[in-house]
Amino acid sequence: MGRLVVVSNRVGPLKDTGRAGGLAVALVDALSQSGGIWFGWSGDVSEEGTFGQLKTQTTRKVQMVQLDMTQADYDEFYAGYANRTLWPVLHYRLDLAVFDRRFEQGYRHVNERFATRVAPLLESDDIVWVHDYHFLTFGANLRAMDIGNPMAFFLHIPFPAPEILAALPNASSMVRAMLAYDLIGFQTERDAANFRRFVVEELEGTDLGDGRLQISGGEVIARAYPIGIDAEAFSKFAMSPDARRNMGRLEKLLGGRQQIIGVDRIDYSKGLPERFRAFERLLEDYPENRGRVSLMQVAPPSRAELDAYIDIRRQLDEMTGHVNGRFADLDWTPIRFLTKSFPRRALAGIYRASRVGLVTPLRDGMNLVAKEYIAAQRAEDPGVLVLSRFAGAAEGMKEAVIVNPHSAEEVAAGLQTAITMPLEERRDRWQIMFDRLCRNDAVAWSRAIMSDVRTVAR
Ligand code: UDP
Repeated sequence: MGRLVVVSNRVGPLKDTGRAGGLAVALVDALSQSGGIWFGWSGDVSEEGTFGQLKTQTTRKVQMVQLDMTQADYDEFYAGYANRTLWPVLHYRLDLAVFDRRFEQGYRHVNERFATRVAPLLESDDIVWVHDYHFLTFGANLRAMDIGNPMAFFLHIPFPAPEILAALPNASSMVRAMLAYDLIGFQTERDAANFRRFVVEELEGTDLGDGRLQISGGEVIARAYPIGIDAEAFSKFAMSPDARRNMGRLEKLLGGRQQIIGVDRIDYSKGLPERFRAFERLLEDYPENRGRVSLMQVAPPSRAELDAYIDIRRQLDEMTGHVNGRFADLDWTPIRFLTKSFPRRALAGIYRASRVGLVTPLRDGMNLVAKEYIAAQRAEDPGVLVLSRFAGAAEGMKEAVIVNPHSAEEVAAGLQTAITMPLEERRDRWQIMFDRLCRNDAVAWSRAIMSDVRTVAR
């Protein structure tokens, strides 16, 4: 078996410090099985950029190799095409997308430069596994250098319907470049089907069934591989001293009242203003919850340099003030809005102390918070997950209360169902989801992809 060479925008951490998400855990597992390299951006901007020295850190089986980029690369590739063009388009937000030829050129340039730096490190029987929307064209760059190794790609965010993607200038050329990978993995069946439909309708490929596509004489796999979390480890987190401490503090504060918890980076895809409106609607439509049920929203800032994020933050501050001003009482605050981040161990305790997990993105590739919320619950008295139908997680969590995040009325009704759900029903729904999470964990996910990519003959 050959080594694994992972390429992703950010690299590591190699050790699970409680900070590492499911992805890092799965990749470290895969890398330590076969040995290999994890290659990506160092997070630093320098004058030499991708022409500078590789920054290398070596452990027994895994080498982490990182590369700087220039300020222009950062502006065009990262802040530009990746964050201002691909992120909104792939999340169905054409209204927020910026189309600038320089961004696309910078993106293609950085992909080509990263491929050029990785190529000399490859051995003939390595498997290359590339991650996410930063590197759509990277595989085609490697192929142009006569690299014939098996290559897998996984898209962590949604792949939109062809009708949306067609609005991206040069969409066909981008998707054609993706076909250089032997296997293209998606979070959901819907994303994989959207991709196959684009290839058939716009690129004259043939759908052979079973997730196989034929194009220009070659074959690629385009299938769903829903990413999992390390469910058992997360469930243990929930019993760790950190988690217990947070739980204790919260339970004291709540004094027997119920809490709804939301945890999301501040991002327009997460539907946060819609969520606050839905909570207000809950207090309007079901007044028995006034004084009894509160919403805690944990919302660490992300990519704060973008105006769109600053606007959402301001909007949420205003809505918190409005709802609290309207409904708060001496001993009860309806919304607590925390714009800080917590380590995952601490989050586990916050989830466990919350009777309802509210996950209502307008669009999300998967949404790991939904899975973590379930993993953190007490088997004997679990909380209820209220989940957007537009989160990738909804495909595999049908026992959650599924809602349309655009309808405040529907989310409020879903919350009411969750708050009043009898214990037996809560247990039944939770057990099915928890068992499924344990079976389909992050390690099973990466092994399925690694096993399938080996079946594609070139
Ligand atoms: N997270 C965290 N601390 C926080 C908020 C979030 O560690 O204060 C983690 C959370 O546990 C989850 C990840 O960030 O693992 C968010 O993943 P998700 O798929 O829900 O959303 P994304 O941010 O990737 O769009």
